[in-house]
Amino acid sequence: MMKHEFEKQLEALEKNGFNRRQFLKIMAAAGIISVASTQQAKAFSSDAKGKIVIIGGGAAGISMAARLKSWLNSPDITLIDPSDRQFYQPGFTLIASGVYQPNDVWKKQDDCMPDGIKWIKDSVTAVDPVWNQVTTNNNGKIPYDFLVLTPGLQTNWEKVEGITHDTLGQGNANSIYDFEGAQKTWKALQEFSKTGGRGIFTDTYTKHKCGGAPKKICLLTEHYNRKQGTRDKVSLNYYTASKELYDIPYFTPRLLKIYEERNIPINLNIRVKGVDTLAKQVHFEKIETVGDQKIYTPFVEDYDFLHFTPPMSAPDFVREAGLGWTEGKLAADAWVMVDKETLVHQKYPNIVSLGDVAGIPTSKTSAAIRKQVPIAAKNLISLMEGKEPTEKYDGYAACPIVTDYGHVLLCEFNYKKEPEISFPFTMLDTSKEQWAAWLLKVYFLKPMYFYGMLKGLA
Ligand SMILES: Cc1cc2nc3c(=O)[nH]c(=O)nc-3n(C[C@H](O)[C@H](O)[C@H](O)COP(=O)(O)OP(=O)(O)OC[C@H]3O[C@@H](n4cnc5c(N)ncnc54)[C@H](O)[C@@H]3O)c2cc1C
Repeated sequence: MMKHEFEKQLEALEKNGFNRRQFLKIMAAAGIISVASTQQAKAFSSDAKGKIVIIGGGAAGISMAARLKSWLNSPDITLIDPSDRQFYQPGFTLIASGVYQPNDVWKKQDDCMPDGIKWIKDSVTAVDPVWNQVTTNNNGKIPYDFLVLTPGLQTNWEKVEGITHDTLGQGNANSIYDFEGAQKTWKALQEFSKTGGRGIFTDTYTKHKCGGAPKKICLLTEHYNRKQGTRDKVSLNYYTASKELYDIPYFTPRLLKIYEERNIPINLNIRVKGVDTLAKQVHFEKIETVGDQKIYTPFVEDYDFLHFTPPMSAPDFVREAGLGWTEGKLAADAWVMVDKETLVHQKYPNIVSLGDVAGIPTSKTSAAIRKQVPIAAKNLISLMEGKEPTEKYDGYAACPIVTDYGHVLLCEFNYKKEPEISFPFTMLDTSKEQWAAWLLKVYFLKPMYFYGMLKGLA
């Protein structure tokens, strides 16, 4: 594929590292963020006081720390996270398809931590929301006045029989839901195009981060084989545990058409029970609803290359602390019981929660977090001031579904499943895949993450 001159320039800039000024200039020039909005972000301030503890310094936790730090005149913020590195996880798909190198997607956590935040490099093992304290592995109990709950989600590899995190990649059973896993996937995908055979792609029955990711790696594998001239050597099949491929009506028809055009059959209502990595067989269950009963029919499929999605849930300590939903669809995996508009906990009003762990009916993406952060931060400040939280989140999320090397179906939507457009693509038909959206995905969103979102600027 010939690279456009614009792509080359952006690539060179990105490789050398954007600084903050360049970032703001480029994003403003591209119409992706407005200078007015960053000035507005700075303009708000409050004298509210109280000790804030943030659990988890990923996309949501660091962005919250940055916002709260700039909006509070006397911030007292402690962030607890054991990780040395900050990962841009949306880049995992691009590692697995050879577009990014592994080192493109992470930075030292030290370099991402906003100044003035007390970072405790440790893991939280328990929360006591009645006595307002958290327990850590090595630093004992830490009290708080206000809690920001952003530990992301727990990936439950072992819930796929035959799989553990450590054996990921064995028997050509791969998953991009892991940094090393994404690197192994890229090796396996290239090998698969040489050997040919049967490729199976699956999602999972729980809510999972970036619901588009399993679809993206499937479509990229298909295009990779076409580019290599090996498409006729491979057959590809997609299995979803859902009753439809994608549930945002504005985008679904085109996505279905793409799968049809590429000759990738879609199998609905099927979940993975286990993988026999020695025999290279996936053990599936077909789910049928008869009356109010669910019937699970097992069957087995051979594969040569497998991409699977592990089940996911809130971390165990969230469930054990009684912070998760206790009824409804979000209860089984203990997603945090927050109001879907204010992001304030329904039972403990000194807790806000956002990001992957939050029990809200939208897609678990960092794009969603970008919109949640200012809302959760302002509402937390209102609570600190003894006021009602009034800011409301509309469920915005975005999932850039990479449909091939060069195009992305940029799915942006809200709780009502209506399409939204937040990037400067108003001239384009966003119900179809676009090259401009590919540029956004590959060249703009990563710097926007590290230099905009995590700095509280975008
Ligand atoms: C393959 C893949 C593709 C994706 N594609 C996209 C995409 O195209 N677009 C998009 O917008 N999003 C995408 N996402 C989703 C996006 O990356 C996540 O939604 C986002 O990173 C979630 O942010 P978070 O802060 O909630 O959790 P995370 O970023 O996962 O951060 C959680 C943090 O909490 C810390 N932590 C965990 N447990 C504890 C504990 N007990 N104590 C203290 N700290 C703890 C962790 O160390 C980590 O730093 C993708 C994700 C994956 C894996």
